Amino acid sequence: MARARIIDGKAIAAELRKAVAAEVEALKREKGVTPGLAVVLVGDDPASQVYVRNKARQTVEAGMKSFEHKLPATTSEAQLLKLIDELNRSRDVHGILVQLPLPPQIDTRKVIEAIDPAKDVDGFHPINVGHLSAGEPALVPCTPAGCIILAKSVQPDLKGLEAVVIGRSNIVGKPVAQLLLREDCTVTIAHSRTRDLPSVVRRADLLIAAVGRPEMVRGDWIKPGAIVIDVGINRIEGSEGQPRLVGDVAFNEAVEVAGAITPVPGGVGPMTIACLLKNTVGAAQSQTQ
Ligand code: NAD
Repeated sequence: MARARIIDGKAIAAELRKAVAAEVEALKREKGVTPGLAVVLVGDDPASQVYVRNKARQTVEAGMKSFEHKLPATTSEAQLLKLIDELNRSRDVHGILVQLPLPPQIDTRKVIEAIDPAKDVDGFHPINVGHLSAGEPALVPCTPAGCIILAKSVQPDLKGLEAVVIGRSNIVGKPVAQLLLREDCTVTIAHSRTRDLPSVVRRADLLIAAVGRPEMVRGDWIKPGAIVIDVGINRIEGSEGQPRLVGDVAFNEAVEVAGAITPVPGGVGPMTIACLLKNTVGAAQSQTQ
């Protein structure tokens, strides 16, 4: 069996950002509207700071306005809800993203539900979750949307495929399963209580691994020729004591069996922000119709 084709998430994300930039230009030209994304960060978690900085930079590079709101870790729920209310009303802001996790004094659910669903570019508001599961137009969570684009870069029509998703989180597992259903796949959601996970995974023509366990999925779990999308981002200690990023799939084993596979890093990771930008321009288009 030939080695799997490596799905280049970096290149596909760059293409998507280019397409978004063109849509932004068109919106400016035709409607005089510049899409705006507000990103709210509460506290000083270093990883969140990096994400927020990258989001802001790529927003500006795509020709959109970026509004950054950095609040101290001691911010109260009422203060955050007041800011969300202002952003909901602002005509310059078409998308609102609250970086998670939030500090313990703030109820994350309340904050997500306070965001205007039309500006909910993370797709976490129950209205958008409901629309997605009803198969209606919705703002769709970014990482799952990225997974589908990557799978379709290999096989544009996913109809009828046996798709297995490992993980049932609200952020990745459940929404990606809904999107696969929308693509007419036969979908299985596996999770921490699934019996005999390897044999479930062996059924998959398309595997999406979103677990958060380094290299849990072994090469002999993979059906020959399958498309493997690895969402996991796990930091482990490399051979010389240096930290190293690995996915949920043992890449070196799986690459010998799969038909196509995403690397970590450089696979799903770069797609998330690109899809966020796509959601933001889409939200701006809907709000200015
Ligand atoms: P989560 O912890 O919320 O969910 C993990 C899921 O894995 C759970 O539903 C659980 O049932 C399942 N699980 C745990 N142990 C298992 C086992 N032994 N067998 C089968 N299933 C098991 O995590 P999440 O937020 O969905 O993220 C999953 C991974 O994806 C993490 O590594 C995270 O860093 C990564 N991630 C990447 C991106 C990105 O690329 N931009 C975005 C979000 C998450």
